[in-house]
Amino acid sequence: MQEFDVVVIGAGPAGGQTARSLAKKGVKVLLVEKYKDFSLNNFSSAGMTLEPLKEFNIPESVVAAYWNDIVIQCTKKSYAWSSNSKKGVVLDFKKLREFLAQETKKYGSKVMMGCKYESKSILNNHVLVTILDTISSKRIEIKAKLLVDATGPLRKVMYDKDELQPEMVLGSGTEYEIEVEQEVYDKFKNKLLFFLGHKWAIKGYSWIFPMQNRILKVGAGKTHIQSVDQENTNKTTRIITEKIISEYIKTKEYKIIDKHGGILRYSIGLKDKFYHNKVVGVGDAVSAINPRGGEGIRYAMQTGELASKYIEEYLKTGVNNFDKYRKNWRNKKLIKWKLSEYSARRMYSRYTDNQVENRVNFLNKNFTINDIIDSLFNFKYNKPFTRLFQYTFLKVQFLFKKQKF
Ligand SMILES: Cc1cc2nc3c(=O)[nH]c(=O)nc-3n(C[C@H](O)[C@H](O)[C@H](O)COP(=O)(O)OP(=O)(O)OC[C@H]3O[C@@H](n4cnc5c(N)ncnc54)[C@H](O)[C@@H]3O)c2cc1C
Repeated sequence: MQEFDVVVIGAGPAGGQTARSLAKKGVKVLLVEKYKDFSLNNFSSAGMTLEPLKEFNIPESVVAAYWNDIVIQCTKKSYAWSSNSKKGVVLDFKKLREFLAQETKKYGSKVMMGCKYESKSILNNHVLVTILDTISSKRIEIKAKLLVDATGPLRKVMYDKDELQPEMVLGSGTEYEIEVEQEVYDKFKNKLLFFLGHKWAIKGYSWIFPMQNRILKVGAGKTHIQSVDQENTNKTTRIITEKIISEYIKTKEYKIIDKHGGILRYSIGLKDKFYHNKVVGVGDAVSAINPRGGEGIRYAMQTGELASKYIEEYLKTGVNNFDKYRKNWRNKKLIKWKLSEYSARRMYSRYTDNQVENRVNFLNKNFTINDIIDSLFNFKYNKPFTRLFQYTFLKVQFLFKKQKF
């Protein structure tokens, strides 16, 4: 039987970063991924700001395109924030995960592709993991001191099959990767284009992100208050995506390179288990994803980095400080994520189409591109709050004066 210090299940951004970070510290890691190849689940749009590139030493080869501008298209009008310099990137999601797996190997650890986690059992001071090699159909047993659940929204390792999970907010997205003519591509390059409002989005937002070589990512995401009916959900987001291609991009000449999608399951108030019975959770498996924008890659990698600190400590000293891992993460994100939940609920479910348009118009008039990036990606709400406070104050003053005369 093969033995490792840590077995990480799932080679997404969270699992890849956890394995990379632990391997670099000299820990003997096994990274296990159920797909044979990362192109088979290339589901993420992977748009983000520039900061994560530095934060995680992500090489240029993983970047598909840079963006300078943000545009929000509402039902009536489009609102743009422009810049002369690069503000962010769209990564090649497949290459990002390949890179993290290669790094894990480079630091002396092992990666197994096409291997699916099936079950675990605790044996004295170890975990016994059963994995199915989907290529040879053989079952493999592996012994580890710790197991990492990096399986994303389904949390396959932390929770056994029929075990109750915390209450979740649900979301789903569909995305088409299409190749278009040069002149069409040129209209959409250098910008992240989001759709809000009832014409181009339903209970969420839609998008067009540029990749390299005349390739665009076009997609739609939707939040669900109740349970996800996977088939219907895919249907609505697929219909919107196709509507954007035919009626907004208005291109007849295009080639579909890939159709993909995914789901989001986010625990309201970050109630997930971060550690239980020799299993540590990272990434979407502990609701690291931001509930408003569905931005999750950076936060998946941050949880991986943070967890690896406590995993190393556990391996070296035997001290279990995983409650500190949970506290640390919640201290950093809980309030910001709660504000994001609140603003997502208003924007996606409660606002009328006019309210959405007015809100975006207000942001466009009052916010610079840096303010909008701070609010959308960095969850710094100081400026929006100050502006809203000033606006409310002026309005109250105006009403007060009106009453006086
Ligand atoms: C349509 C869509 C668009 C998105 N766009 C963006 C974006 O623009 N920017 C951004 O930052 N985020 C985006 N996200 C969110 C982001 O992709 C996720 O938050 C991020 O991928 C989470 O990383 P993770 O490693 O926790 O989980 P995942 O990326 O889901 O990785 C989990 C891995 O575990 C593997 N796995 C699952 N079960 C098993 C098993 N039994 N055995 C072995 N392996 C298993 C899966 O195959 C997968 O590779 C988007 C998400 C979706 C669905």
